[in-house]
Amino acid sequence: MIPSNIKALILDMDGVLWKGDAPIGDLPGTFQRIRERGLKFVFATNNGTKTPEEYQQKLAELGVDAAPEQIVTSALGIAFLLAQKHPRGTKIFMIGEDGIRVALEEKGFEVLNVENAPQAQAVVMGIDRGINFQKVAEATLLVRAGVPFYTTNTDRTFPTPRGEIPGSGSWLAVVTSATGVQPVVAGKPFPYLMELALERLGTSREETLVVGDRLETDVAAGQAVGCRTALVLSGVSTRKEAEAWNPAPTLMAESLEALVAQS
Ligand SMILES: [Mg+2]
Repeated sequence: MIPSNIKALILDMDGVLWKGDAPIGDLPGTFQRIRERGLKFVFATNNGTKTPEEYQQKLAELGVDAAPEQIVTSALGIAFLLAQKHPRGTKIFMIGEDGIRVALEEKGFEVLNVENAPQAQAVVMGIDRGINFQKVAEATLLVRAGVPFYTTNTDRTFPTPRGEIPGSGSWLAVVTSATGVQPVVAGKPFPYLMELALERLGTSREETLVVGDRLETDVAAGQAVGCRTALVLSGVSTRKEAEAWNPAPTLMAESLEALVAQS
């Protein structure tokens, strides 16, 4: 049961709304219920491979209407972080996909390809389905030389219909192992993405419920910023893991549909 003082939701997507491209439960009905209940919502994902507009399209295909401003990704988070620490025009070697590239370029950064990597003034790592030895070797050389090192997120895996596959954190482990250097992290469980989502919602922490499928990212991030949290069991974390998590998430439900149906 969602407490009556809750006015807004910060929703994870992978493992909450879908697994791969397969929707979890009745998404149009669930969002109709959310709207009837008068809840505002923002989607917040550690997956930075897509732009907000691409997520808007994917949501629309599954029957969920959302504006791009209602979607925050770790790519937007990392671009914001870098904009605080480096001037426009800074050359960045990025291991990642279009979501991160577009977010960095919108902040005025120059994104280098692997051939020009030695010129980089910062290294950014996110999920990259075109990752290869050369990219990882360049990132390692730069980080070992003292170039500042950032990542979108540390999720070791992400869910697909057939099970979990390596996420950003697994590839990151190659570079941290080879360098002994830990990156600055933009995504969950660090608070920045939650703070960006709260800013977009305009609600207080006490009025906002963070919903996700993963204890060590979604629930931890919600707890880190002082929001209530709800774990849904449609993704990665299990009920047994949740019962061992301290402090416990505020709420637990089989799915977002079940969580909303109770309220
Ligand atoms: Mg998830």
